[in-house]
Amino acid sequence: LMNYVGFDTITKQIERRLLKQGFALNLMVVGRSGLGKSTLVNTLFASHLVDSKAARRPNTAEHHRSTIEIHNVSHLIEENGVRLRLSITDTPGYGDLINNQNCWEPITKYIKEQYSSYLRKELTPARERYIKDTRIHAVLFFINPSGHSLSPLDIIVMRRISEVANLIPIIGKSDCLTPEERHAFKDRIRAELDFHKIRAFPEREERLLNDRIRAMLPFAVIGSERNIVVDGKAVRGRRTRWGTVNVEDPEHCEYTALRDFLTRTHLQDLIETTGLVHYEAFRTKQLMALKE
Ligand code: GDP
Ligand code: MG
Repeated sequence: LMNYVGFDTITKQIERRLLKQGFALNLMVVGRSGLGKSTLVNTLFASHLVDSKAARRPNTAEHHRSTIEIHNVSHLIEENGVRLRLSITDTPGYGDLINNQNCWEPITKYIKEQYSSYLRKELTPARERYIKDTRIHAVLFFINPSGHSLSPLDIIVMRRISEVANLIPIIGKSDCLTPEERHAFKDRIRAELDFHKIRAFPEREERLLNDRIRAMLPFAVIGSERNIVVDGKAVRGRRTRWGTVNVEDPEHCEYTALRDFLTRTHLQDLIETTGLVHYEAFRTKQLMALKE
């Protein structure tokens, strides 16, 4: 007992500190315009919000709106006394121009700028104990629900993103696909990602742990900023060719699976991979350049 220094309590201390300070999760949505990115941003945690503040308030009219610049919305979510500061960076649709060369650059530039600002703060001698983390922990990449295959441009952009951040492919507006089409499309996308060696999160090393999740990828989501009435109850939903869709119903849409994936099962993993893999690679490169 004399040798006991209470080292083991550190796990509890960390937990308590984290609980108090809360977690920060920074997401980014990327994809061609009109795939439902902004709608999903406004739907994703709508029913869980404590407060929200938008750097630039998005237009509430769902129809005549297009995202013209990168902007942030930040939400505070609280569950059982645990706080999650969720920030979502919405980006304009890329690939709308005739010449789409380097159209992903504003996106990767933004991601690297966050690394760069974190690194500057880290290198400041009198650094704050708690550095505000704006590093992007996951990029939700929206795939067109064509039912066919990925476009060459999507492949290029996904590759670029996967080199600097955790890439999570998502099928947008998946109410455009029947369940059969959706399954076949997912299989095809997974095969294409493998073929092009694009590393989507979670990575292969954790195969066993993540097999169930990998089989679901890419998540097929449906977004809506409107309520519809189903069985006399108002729910977030959409009317489609096949009837009504409740976006919170896992039978209809994998939106709740995506939400659980991001905030419950893989939150810590996303944050750690960002810091230990992506940021670390950036940091090493920067510091090497400084030495030369
Ligand atoms: P963004 O350009 O990717 O940000 O797309 P928006 O979120 O602005 O949505 C473009 C249009 O698609 C809007 O008219 C939305 O109402 C509609 N929309 C958004 N999500 C869905 C969806 O899941 N299914 C269907 N059918 N339409 C959607
Ligand atoms: Mg938009």
